[in-house]
Amino acid sequence: MQKTIAEKLTILSAAAKYDVSCSSSGSRRATPQGGMGNAASMGICHSFTEDGRCISLLKILFSNACRYDCAYCVNRRSNDVPRATFEVDEVVELTLGFYERNYIEGLFLSSGVIRDPDFTMELLVRVAWKLRRVHRFGGYIHLKAIPGASPEWLQRAGEVADRLSVNIEVPSETSLKLLAPDKNYASVYTPMNYIAERKLEYGGGNPSRYTPRFVPAGQTTQMIVGASGESDLQILRLASGFYSGQHLKRVYYSGYIPVNADKRLPVVTTKPPLLREHRLYQADWLMRFYEFRYDEIVDESTPHLDERFDPKLAWALRHPEFFPVDLNTADYSLILRIPGIGVRSARLIVSGRRFSRVGLDELKKMGVALKRAKYFIYHRELPIGLRTLYPEMLTMRLLAESKAPLQQLSLFDTGPGMPAVSALS
Ligand code: SF4
Repeated sequence: MQKTIAEKLTILSAAAKYDVSCSSSGSRRATPQGGMGNAASMGICHSFTEDGRCISLLKILFSNACRYDCAYCVNRRSNDVPRATFEVDEVVELTLGFYERNYIEGLFLSSGVIRDPDFTMELLVRVAWKLRRVHRFGGYIHLKAIPGASPEWLQRAGEVADRLSVNIEVPSETSLKLLAPDKNYASVYTPMNYIAERKLEYGGGNPSRYTPRFVPAGQTTQMIVGASGESDLQILRLASGFYSGQHLKRVYYSGYIPVNADKRLPVVTTKPPLLREHRLYQADWLMRFYEFRYDEIVDESTPHLDERFDPKLAWALRHPEFFPVDLNTADYSLILRIPGIGVRSARLIVSGRRFSRVGLDELKKMGVALKRAKYFIYHRELPIGLRTLYPEMLTMRLLAESKAPLQQLSLFDTGPGMPAVSALS
């Protein structure tokens, strides 16, 4: 029996919930003349769940009738789940209707592989094209670039979407072959490289006003963490390569949520590894904004992130030779590495110290978390004993100071009143 749009929406929005690569900031688009909607360069997704995932786009699959059989996926061919496939006009109608009611600020459209990658990509492009060219829709559009899609369809997708994402899914080709036998790294890297090269040809991040736009918000990818045995070192090495090689805007990490019983997958008896996912996001942040290389955060001798501390604090504890730091003389890049000091406060310290020595009161006003930074800085107003603690003693003290065991809420089974993990600074 033919499904109604509401029934399809129920199935295909639920089917899309495991894809986390949907943050929508980074694109600006004015309302077209006679059209509707616009996109701002930041803050499009105003709603975030407690673990930082954005939820305010209309996030759906075009179809969950996938012909692939990835072990970790609820929509895989071999699962007996309700299936549905939209028509192009149905997705267009839903997007415009929700936008007009102010429910959403954009569209995140992915899909299972319906017939082949190009057939699927064409359908996604048709939706975005119709929204942009027929309905003059200026809101945010994020399309999934289907692994294996040809350059012709990627080109068309890049001309109408703000952002494209090709999901690498599994952090090594060996594991990908095992868990997703219909895919390979070439089918992911080829579209990713094509998008990166075309974006550069179109003027990168600073196109002239006369240059046509091509994925103005760049491309992203997603990695599932914990469905295969790769270490954090392997994951961060791969992410670092994406940032430098393919100029990705973001790499998203998705703690493996067991949805299938499959002997190729680990048996997860506890909760999904959301704390590990959170630590990876913190490490990613260090690479993008704190001038850390991936191999400074984890290396062959410590291939996994320390779950007890954020990666910046863990790095500081492993490198006592850099501390204490004199804030009145140290380089900006070293100040940036002090636990408790963020990018903004590091900049304020460097500009403020040109006029006078920076005192503890000023540091507090600059937003420095002195509770943490006091162990790593040299300051005459601080007791000498703080900065002469041995790393082992400091580790014990920091552990004792943390108020609650670190936990993180799951996106799908949250409960009120649970503590969130501490923020990185
Ligand atoms: S290609 Fe794999 S991950 Fe994507 S919908 Fe199909 S089975 Fe799921």
